[in-house]
Amino acid sequence: MNNILQNETDGVKENLHDAQTSAADMELINKYSRKELTAEDVYTFSVVLCDNEVDRDNEHFSDEALDKLAQLFVGVTGIYDHTPSAKNQVARIYSCAVEQVDGRKTSYGEPYRRLVARAYIPRCKSSEELIAMLDSGIKKEVSVGCGIGECVCSICGEDLRTGACSHVKGRRYGGKLCCGVLKEPTDAYEWSFIAVPSQREAGVIKSFTYPGDISGILNAQKLLDEEAAESLKTYISSLEKSAREGEMYKSVLRLEAVKAGITARIGIESSLLESMVKGLSAEELLRLKEGFEKTAAELLPVRCQTMTEEAFGTPVRRDDNSGYDI
Ligand SMILES: [Zn+2]
Repeated sequence: MNNILQNETDGVKENLHDAQTSAADMELINKYSRKELTAEDVYTFSVVLCDNEVDRDNEHFSDEALDKLAQLFVGVTGIYDHTPSAKNQVARIYSCAVEQVDGRKTSYGEPYRRLVARAYIPRCKSSEELIAMLDSGIKKEVSVGCGIGECVCSICGEDLRTGACSHVKGRRYGGKLCCGVLKEPTDAYEWSFIAVPSQREAGVIKSFTYPGDISGILNAQKLLDEEAAESLKTYISSLEKSAREGEMYKSVLRLEAVKAGITARIGIESSLLESMVKGLSAEELLRLKEGFEKTAAELLPVRCQTMTEEAFGTPVRRDDNSGYDI
């Protein structure tokens, strides 16, 4: 028995696989089973996990990321509605591959590719309901959760979360849409059946190895309701903006500290100085810059315009005003 599930990001409705559970399928499935299962013991189906189309966050997976996810999702169990408890772990992916859909392009003009998994559910009393649901024609959706190491700008290639790029996701630059390209997947931690078709979060949930879209995860895990997750998201966005501005300020400070160090002739070459200041906080950079500037000022005192060359060259006593004679 076969069935198709699709996530919301994928609008294709045609059947992907029509074949019965094959001996090759059973061989893969039995890698995860304690006792030898037969084709009658399991219900198998195909599911589109994600694709390379731009999602609602104006982000899309790179081709390499999809290929890596195809490896990472093998063996991962599927759950109902993101409730990660053992009793909800109902289906397991036993194979996964990237498929290219002939003739279809993404909105940014590349061949459309999607990640299609084969999964199985052991036939037993507790799985009857889900199998019946999958068998019926009810619209079903799947969302996936994965860790992503990098999200780079499609315009300039800079990591969007470091503040090094000034492009805005969703805007067009010279006709080209700016979006986040998701790269370097680190983990595939879940995929879920969305039982209620109207749920807005159906689709791909991404988490980042650095603090990023935590609100989406909290909402997905039902730790926050949609409204609270949305307000947390707004708050995080404002923090991210401040962080980007802070990073910009720090890069200016780093530059100034290095310049001041060179002027102060501290005897350290600029490249070494540059790597030394990299890990410093804004406050440390400011103190270092001020220290260098003080040293530089002592080294090269500001000349008073009224001083004669002669007076400048000899030590001037406090009560000696002869240097100021014109
Ligand atoms: Zn950019």
